Amino acid sequence: MSGVLCCGNIVFDVLVRPVSELRWNTTHWVDSIRHTMGGNGANTAFALGVLGARVRLLGWIGADPAGAFLLDKLAAAGVDLSGVRRGRAPTATTVSLVNPQGDRFLLHAPGVSLEAFADPPELDAPLLEGMTHFHLANPFAIPGLRRHGHALLRQARAAGLVTSTDTGWDQHGRWMQDLAQALAWTDLVFVNREETLGLTGSSDLCEAARIFAGYGVRMAVFKLGAEGCAVWRDGEIIRVPAFEVEVVDTTGAGDCFAGAYLAALLEGRDPATAARFANAAAALSVTQLGATEGLRGRDEIEAWMRAAPVRGGA
Ligand code: ADP
Repeated sequence: MSGVLCCGNIVFDVLVRPVSELRWNTTHWVDSIRHTMGGNGANTAFALGVLGARVRLLGWIGADPAGAFLLDKLAAAGVDLSGVRRGRAPTATTVSLVNPQGDRFLLHAPGVSLEAFADPPELDAPLLEGMTHFHLANPFAIPGLRRHGHALLRQARAAGLVTSTDTGWDQHGRWMQDLAQALAWTDLVFVNREETLGLTGSSDLCEAARIFAGYGVRMAVFKLGAEGCAVWRDGEIIRVPAFEVEVVDTTGAGDCFAGAYLAALLEGRDPATAARFANAAAALSVTQLGATEGLRGRDEIEAWMRAAPVRGGA
């Protein structure tokens, strides 16, 4: 039996829409204010759970209603929450103001993220029990993970787990300075185009993959938005086109993609099949507002893929 220990941030998202302008000292009436789940760790674990994989989440929430809301949602997707810690500060929260064009103005209170993983964490026996894969989702999002993410990957590798890192965006622009150590213990790296450029200085995928390999990575999965994805392994690159969908909100697409790719690998699929499945899961996720609301179960995705058009008609 395989399972993923998924580590990363857990965020309470408040989506407010539509907001066309901001004027201080006035009240705006809006169509909806919705509570949803965000955070790369929570989204990826949720996707794995929805897709039928065994998954345990390692992350932090506050002892507050926002945290309870997130735990309920994750539990409903079958995520094992025994690795979720409660800190003193409130659950990390983002308020997203969405205008009629879909652009966002984000207000983020990191809350408990600032105390999460402050001490070098230990992957003890209860956390590792039944797990075969360790996934680090966006170490740049949590200061403690930026410092100690590599220690978690090293312990996971030492315990015999396969490791992956979804790098995320570095808002401090330190990129490889802070990620190099983590990559040394990473088997599989997930990156989007902007992150690839930030980390390697190259927008050529083969060259970037070789740079990642130089740091110790064995497989690089490039998320290419509307162009789908590309998988690099053993000097070969496979490109897999995206599915044609009506895009409503691309937030969380990368997390759904990573969760689906890992779920497929865990089931023994080859990288090209996993990439196609991940493109499908992520394509469905962008058809609805919210990071994971559009995601469907495995059978539904597979049925959808059989008929869905691929972009560029490939
Ligand atoms: P991230 O969300 O990490 O920035 P991307 O924007 O590349 O990553 O999105 C992740 C995946 O979501 C893509 O690899 C693709 O499979 C899917 N995706 C994103 N945007 C679209 C789109 N416009 N049409 C179809 N699929 C998309």
